[in-house]
Amino acid sequence: MLRWAEHKRWGLDVGASGVAVVIEDDDDIREVVHAVLEASGLEVYAAGNGVDGVDAVRLHNPDVITLDLGLPDIDGIEVTRRVREFSDAYIVMLTARAREVDTLQGLAVGADDFVTKPFRPRELLARVETLLRRPRGSTLLNGSGGTTTAELPPAGGALSLNAPTASPVKASGQAAEPSGLEHNGLYLDVATRTTRVGTEEVQLTRTEFDLLQALMEAGRVVRSTTGLARWLHAREYETGGYVSESEERAIQVHIANLRRKLGDSAQSPRWVETVRGVGYRLAAKSSEN
Ligand code: CA
Repeated sequence: MLRWAEHKRWGLDVGASGVAVVIEDDDDIREVVHAVLEASGLEVYAAGNGVDGVDAVRLHNPDVITLDLGLPDIDGIEVTRRVREFSDAYIVMLTARAREVDTLQGLAVGADDFVTKPFRPRELLARVETLLRRPRGSTLLNGSGGTTTAELPPAGGALSLNAPTASPVKASGQAAEPSGLEHNGLYLDVATRTTRVGTEEVQLTRTEFDLLQALMEAGRVVRSTTGLARWLHAREYETGGYVSESEERAIQVHIANLRRKLGDSAQSPRWVETVRGVGYRLAAKSSEN
């Protein structure tokens, strides 16, 4: 997996900040991951098994978690399940290539990304930094009140030129900038990164939120699965860059999670429509809206 080494933005992006928890039972790997993340500027805590890992997440409220799937007590899938009950930290799973089934299961219960073993420490670091960088445009302006959706990291290319189908909605009490998007009763508040269906709040992981925002902003224009995978990994949308089958399947799993949480149907979608063989787009506006 040399992809990251070839990436043009390769190189340590000094200034990563935030808190990381490393959950890994192999002492050597844990120490290396700990050292690499710490050197990049993160505050790092480590745990050698799943239960301690969940405790560490509860205690330190990290921005990102690296999680080995094979742990001596509860496995990475169960750790993810438990962590997702109280944390929306990014979860990067470390997984053996042969166990792709586990990877997909991990994504299904709420992990964000995965790195296959054996990996280069810098490859893992690149993934972590990409995740930490991804939502910043949308979140860093929280304090200024009412950021606009234009702060989304660039999806690039023609796909960002269309007018969105989802309607901007005004932040309550704010006259100027719209802070969210609405479509068929689904509300996305970009400033607070909250999601509502009607009046009910829906808890999405950061990756699910990012995907949903990307789809709502593209409106009826199709977002390809490979394009979404590249975008999530902060690669160029248009100029390509290899997207593996696993990465495409990861997008499919994230979309499936998103639909399940929203209560949407793949067959008669209210929000996320599948365009067979290509990708996804926002469903048509329903007539009662
Ligand atoms: Ca292990």
